[in-house]
Amino acid sequence: MGRRPRLGILGGGQLGRMTLQAASRLGVDVVVAERFADSPAARLTSHSLVFPNGWDDPPRLDELASLATVVTLESEFVDWRVLEALQQHGVDVWPSPACVGVVQDKLLQKQALARAELPVPTFCAIHSPAALVRAGDELGWPLMLKARRDGYDGRGNTVVAEPSQAERACARLGWPARALYAEAFIDFNRELACMVVRGLDGEIVEYPVVETVQDPDLHICREVLAPAGVPDHVSVQAAEIARGAIEAVDAIGAMGVELFLLRDGQVVVNELAPRPHNSGHYTIEACWTSQFENHVRAVLGLPLGDSGMRAPAAAMVNLLGRSSEPVTMPNTALQVPHTFVHLYGKADNRPGRKMGHVTALATTPEEAREHALAAATKVRL
Ligand code: ATP
Ligand code: MG
Repeated sequence: MGRRPRLGILGGGQLGRMTLQAASRLGVDVVVAERFADSPAARLTSHSLVFPNGWDDPPRLDELASLATVVTLESEFVDWRVLEALQQHGVDVWPSPACVGVVQDKLLQKQALARAELPVPTFCAIHSPAALVRAGDELGWPLMLKARRDGYDGRGNTVVAEPSQAERACARLGWPARALYAEAFIDFNRELACMVVRGLDGEIVEYPVVETVQDPDLHICREVLAPAGVPDHVSVQAAEIARGAIEAVDAIGAMGVELFLLRDGQVVVNELAPRPHNSGHYTIEACWTSQFENHVRAVLGLPLGDSGMRAPAAAMVNLLGRSSEPVTMPNTALQVPHTFVHLYGKADNRPGRKMGHVTALATTPEEAREHALAAATKVRL
């Protein structure tokens, strides 16, 4: 490698912070760009840039391009045109602006997956409440209505039970200002996820298929169990779909593939995240090379590391805020064996916000879950 690489990360939340931690272990300096000062990631580096007026800020993009040799991102919400502009300032951006442009629009994402003949729920663009009614009559009720862009933690989704709810559902998601699409409501058995990482040379490594458990009210991931307790043929199928998906959108770096396991054993893709993902946090302690390290390796053109597990099983439990009081960790949270507590150092706590996570290693995912919960329930959120 010629010039010593310096990695730029757009976004300073927990994903940027854990990417930075992996990069720093490889001796790679990191510059963190975030729209506000003192982000969880920026606090760990002396090189940071603040974009107080949003990402579309040419002088600051120019500065970022001069400080970093490669730029990556911790969220798919940076508009792909900004990434393209950044690239024009003379820095490599991975995943590419074109890839992010597809993935950040859930309709284009679904179309790309369908074109690659990967299984997805049936879907269609929705341009009006009347179109939603027609879609429901065709695909069946209930329908899942989603905003095409900027949805996260279930915000941007709404279930439409019957035609009379169409008008209100569209308005709730911000239509007509916001573009929508609808997909069949999937009566899934469980939710699975698979992290995949693709290097600049096209090599792909996949991580074990995991089970993710979402909070039914908050629509946020609560727990991850690794490996998923599913028959081998299901995890093989899920991993194949995940490999196909990363190629279908031509992503470089880590990508989270969220999947539904149907009652008949079929696996279908829910959505993609072209970056390290909450379902892969367990890899920090449970795998030979974490999702964050492999992401850094991929975008810098370094060889990818072994994604296999170094413990028989792991579980991860998210620490979700329950109040607006500062998070406090009693010593007892640190005394559960084979358990690792992560706090993200976010300035403000609020209900439902991801403030940290706990990973535990054990001989079965269930046992690991018990240990992780034992520590997690001691943290005051
Ligand atoms: P996140 O940021 O939590 O990953 P998001 O806001 O991008 O999520 P989705 O992943 O699209 O939203 O949906 C959130 C959750 O809603 C899913 O994990 C799943 O539990 C449920 N869900 C999404 N799509 C469907 C569907 N078509 N049928 C049934 N349930 C669905
Ligand atoms: Mg999701």
